[in-house]
Amino acid sequence: FSINLIRCELLLKCSVNVFQSLSDGMWLRCGCAASLRVLASPLRVLGLRRCNTAAFMPESTGFGGVSGRSGLQEFSVSSSESFWAAVARHRLSWIRPFTAVQDCDLSRGRIRWFEGGKLNVSVNCLDRHVHTCPDRVALMWERDEKGSEVRYTYRELLEMTCRVGNLLRRHGVKKGDCVTIYMPTCPLAVASMLACARIGAAHNVVFAGFSAEALAERIRDAQSSTVITVNQGIRGGKILELKKTVDTAVQSCPTVQQVFVAMRTDSPVAMTARDIAMEEVRQQREDVVCEPAAMNSEDTLFLLYTSGSTGKPKGLVHTQAGYLLYAALTHRYVFNYHDGDVFGCVADIGWITGHSYGVYGPLANGGTTVLFESTPVYPDPGRYWDMVERLQINQFYGAPTAIRLLLKFGDEWVNKYDRSSLKTLGSVGEPINTEAWEWYYRVVGEERCPVVDTWWQTETGGICIAPRPSDPDAEIVPGMAMRPFFGIKPALMDTEGKVISGNDASGALCLAQPWPGMARTIHNDHQRFMETYCQPYPGYFFTGDGAYRSVEGYYQITGRLDDVINVSGHRIGTAEIEDAVNQCPAVAESAVIGYSHDIKGQAVFAFVVLKKNVDVEEADLSRQLNGIVSEKIAKYACPDFIQFVQRLPKTRSGKIMRRVLRKVVELDLDSLGDLSTLDDPAAVQEIIQGHRELLSK
Ligand code: AMP
Repeated sequence: FSINLIRCELLLKCSVNVFQSLSDGMWLRCGCAASLRVLASPLRVLGLRRCNTAAFMPESTGFGGVSGRSGLQEFSVSSSESFWAAVARHRLSWIRPFTAVQDCDLSRGRIRWFEGGKLNVSVNCLDRHVHTCPDRVALMWERDEKGSEVRYTYRELLEMTCRVGNLLRRHGVKKGDCVTIYMPTCPLAVASMLACARIGAAHNVVFAGFSAEALAERIRDAQSSTVITVNQGIRGGKILELKKTVDTAVQSCPTVQQVFVAMRTDSPVAMTARDIAMEEVRQQREDVVCEPAAMNSEDTLFLLYTSGSTGKPKGLVHTQAGYLLYAALTHRYVFNYHDGDVFGCVADIGWITGHSYGVYGPLANGGTTVLFESTPVYPDPGRYWDMVERLQINQFYGAPTAIRLLLKFGDEWVNKYDRSSLKTLGSVGEPINTEAWEWYYRVVGEERCPVVDTWWQTETGGICIAPRPSDPDAEIVPGMAMRPFFGIKPALMDTEGKVISGNDASGALCLAQPWPGMARTIHNDHQRFMETYCQPYPGYFFTGDGAYRSVEGYYQITGRLDDVINVSGHRIGTAEIEDAVNQCPAVAESAVIGYSHDIKGQAVFAFVVLKKNVDVEEADLSRQLNGIVSEKIAKYACPDFIQFVQRLPKTRSGKIMRRVLRKVVELDLDSLGDLSTLDDPAAVQEIIQGHRELLSK
């Protein structure tokens, strides 16, 4: 870390020049960073360990008297406007400077940053790097077929983006429209996202594992008239019929006028009058110059749907400047990313992690980012580490569920490959248990690489709590997200809604002041945004998570406080699954809960009450219900267990007691708690008995 600081001190001069030359209209030569890096090595011998704040963060020279990382963090919270103004001026390239840093009032759900400013996100992610380093690799596409990776330079990615931008414009896509992208993780998907940003359209990326119905619901809610997809996807060697899924979806989407279809495999697919082949982009018929739209800071950059505690997914709205700045700053400092590093985030672009750390953060920083199309076990459990060796990945960012899966295959799959390029390991999406954390640190990282357990959400836009950045050599506690990022002020709330002030305490995790990366609203439903995030603790942003603050003041996430569960790092509302299950004609009602699963983190358990006189084999019905869930939502949402019961435990007012069901499934019968409020306590005994029988089968 200290070596990197020294390197950073030297790079400072370089980056200050970059930004000065940007404003002077001059461009820095590419060789600058590389030559300074060579210069850094003699200093390494001196063993300097000084924490120079200005070297660490160039903007901090203007922060008067701030020293050390904790000093910076305090300043970023207490002088939030000065901090974010300096960072925004320094790290983004503006068409017109902003006139107000922020205009936020969390109690009213009003969140605005950098108003008056105009910029273009694709110019920030591409053009400015093309001017300085056109041949630097922007994307390394790790295709499903191992060993067939493809690299795209910044120049090539800009050209591809401009072609897609021109294609969309030529087909009538306008500023303010919303384009749905249903594609695997691939360069054309990234170019499509950036092309939307270039012409001022919002994008709505839908994870390509979602079913036709789930896709249709998101297209309708986003009111998209344009969809971009591929003929087929390929993942883990299996073909995914994405175009067919889109065909089914758009049948119930009257707004859709055109579907662009790219070819990921060689198999032709049936095309309709609505479909437009994207081959022309490849055949380079479109111009490689595409005029970027001048966007207001608060114009929508994208919608991203995520699950909440009702059956209807919510389209969180992220805007241009604040989101990009926050993604870039967290990418740079949480992972200690430096010029020339290869950043390996293995998340799919369909999730917020893929957006912020597969695409926007690394590209805003002029980085090299890996797009991972495959699975951790294809063709074998050495896939990640083989990729680390081949692509010389410096920062690896993945999900605990994959780590837990891989550790079961043994150390030899890791040790087979050279991982000496690795400098930082990241974990995202769900709690990482100590065993997985230690294996990640000890075996994968050879005890050399800090493991950063990063807590954040679709709503927060970027990482909010993580062990780094921190003072050099500051401790990292396994399985803890630990320290708030710059500008983040966590607060824990007690059951009466009061702020808990001391340490060694648990409560509802809120964020006490706005930050630029936060979602602005829920598309078409600001009322829901207010009710979910702003009203539970007026003046605070409520995250939906619980957290523990240790004696030392470190944060540890304890899990969701609502009916949202996290299966293999994918968020899903239990109400969504219940809605799907209840659509089976044989089902009277159901209750879905999450339970601990040693690989997936959490898995789905469904209790189902059948209608009277239903005469179907339970095994057949279970298959049918799983089919319905994968058709209506996605495969990952399917229950691992379905228990058919006569009735559900309910309060006298009819509320299902999910707490009791959770205890039964966790075999924690001693803490079933007070059952006297139940309408019919005998229901619980029946369920316990049925559960025993299910397990013994
Ligand atoms: P998503 O918006 O799909 O990324 O899901 C966000 C949710 O995942 C959070 O609200 C947490 O419940 C959970 N989560 C994300 N990162 C972590 C983490 N590092 N530790 C514990 N839970 C996490």
